[in-house]
Amino acid sequence: MEDETILTGREAQRRIVDSAIFVSDRVRSTLGPLGMDKMLTDRLGNRTLTNDGASILKALPTTDPIALEMIGIAKAQEQKAFDGTTSVIIKSAEMLKNADLLIDENVHPTKITKGYREGMNIAVAAAEAKAVEYDPYEAAKKVATTAMTGKTAGGYSELLADICAKAANCSKPQNIKIVGLNGDLNNTELIDGVAVIKEPCLSGMPTKVEGSILLVDEELGPPMANMSLTDPSKIAEIAKVQEQYIKERIAYILELDVKAVFCQKGIDSRAQQAFRREGIMAFRNIKKGDIHRLATSTGASIVEDLADIREDDIGSGKVEFIENMSKSYTKVEGTVSGAASIILPCPTEQTLQEISRALEDAIGVAWIVANEPKLVTGAGTIQTQMYQAIVNSEPMKDSKAEAAKQAFAKSLLIIPKTLAESAGMDIMDSMHELLTGKDLGINALEGSVSSMSVVEPLEIVKSALQSATECVVGLLRTDEIVLSRPIQELFEDY
Ligand code: ADP
Ligand code: MG
Repeated sequence: MEDETILTGREAQRRIVDSAIFVSDRVRSTLGPLGMDKMLTDRLGNRTLTNDGASILKALPTTDPIALEMIGIAKAQEQKAFDGTTSVIIKSAEMLKNADLLIDENVHPTKITKGYREGMNIAVAAAEAKAVEYDPYEAAKKVATTAMTGKTAGGYSELLADICAKAANCSKPQNIKIVGLNGDLNNTELIDGVAVIKEPCLSGMPTKVEGSILLVDEELGPPMANMSLTDPSKIAEIAKVQEQYIKERIAYILELDVKAVFCQKGIDSRAQQAFRREGIMAFRNIKKGDIHRLATSTGASIVEDLADIREDDIGSGKVEFIENMSKSYTKVEGTVSGAASIILPCPTEQTLQEISRALEDAIGVAWIVANEPKLVTGAGTIQTQMYQAIVNSEPMKDSKAEAAKQAFAKSLLIIPKTLAESAGMDIMDSMHELLTGKDLGINALEGSVSSMSVVEPLEIVKSALQSATECVVGLLRTDEIVLSRPIQELFEDY
């Protein structure tokens, strides 16, 4: 777009398709269990290896408006469904490419839109009809395994998928925290609660307690005396008042038989000593996210003023300080649950990042199916089934819309095709076998076409198809690309 200010008609449409294919080509080869990795490097010489479509797209230094639009769909898919980003891009690009061929044959974009929407409805209905309902834990474990396919995490998928499934069955993704350490991945551990990277604020406090837990969002110390003093007797007097103030505050806490205090702000040294004397484990400067997770897990409310603390503000659970070579932490297992933490020991920072990302996606997908445990068969099976449903459906009256509907069906096959391609299989032979058989998929690891046990959540397959179609339809209606004044200015009130 840099050299031209306006592209119209066919020129604009061709540019859209070219950009879509450019973006799709960046991620195409990473699809599936045998997908290749990409090395991302920046001008500062930093580099990282990744197989994750969303990360690759985010890293593209493009200002091309169409490419950015495509990247937008991938991001939306990532946020909504946690997986399927590569597929959504490849599918959208293929749909645009096939639409372009129809435009060459004088089919108007509105007819294409009509046929594509019809194709999508048939495909979604077919996916719903093929979906099988599972037990939520089993479903979550299966999809977490698929989500980690082809990534570094895939090597440990048995252990990690079990952890993701258990975590997703007890808490929302926002309440699941991943804590990276240095060590061996085989020692990955799920905590039914919160791991806080903190130690008790004073040595000599207990390292393990069980019972009432208090969460505070108030500085545990006296109000600051904001004056300069020279008279020593005055200083002593103020110290006394402050001492009294702390005593009163702590008395509120002691009355409630609290065993552990987590404070979002600071804790004054006199308060720390008082807690130690009473055998209370106290922690200061706890992060906001952690304090909220602690509230969920222990059933406590976050108290803002100790003076109006009530009994039901107090939560409960077990608190234990775990000393570790690379990073010590405190494990809090609340009695209410609803938050989880995964202790993830990794050999290097690079593996930690890659595995955390894969785990976050796997947890998200696991959570989606834990709530809606319907699954379809992956590895290109579901796309082939959707293709067959469209091809066998009642023809539309309008010949051009029907041609578009068929083109939509054909676009779905890009997924099995790409899986076969990245597995080094003969594409024509594999597609022939796939389409003449029934309910088969691409067994990438064995290089054959067979009945597959890889599963994908129905929800994700549906949402990916819907967002790809809507994006494509939106782009098809575009017949002019204009280099504009800043868009923000166009909508400002003068
Ligand atoms: P995405 O970003 O779209 O999730 P992935 O690289 O994760 O891309 O690949 C997902 C695709 O790989 C899905 O279509 C899934 O069904 C397929 N897949 C997963 N495991 C296998 C397998 N063992 N054989 C063939 N295909 C597989
Ligand atoms: Mg994936």
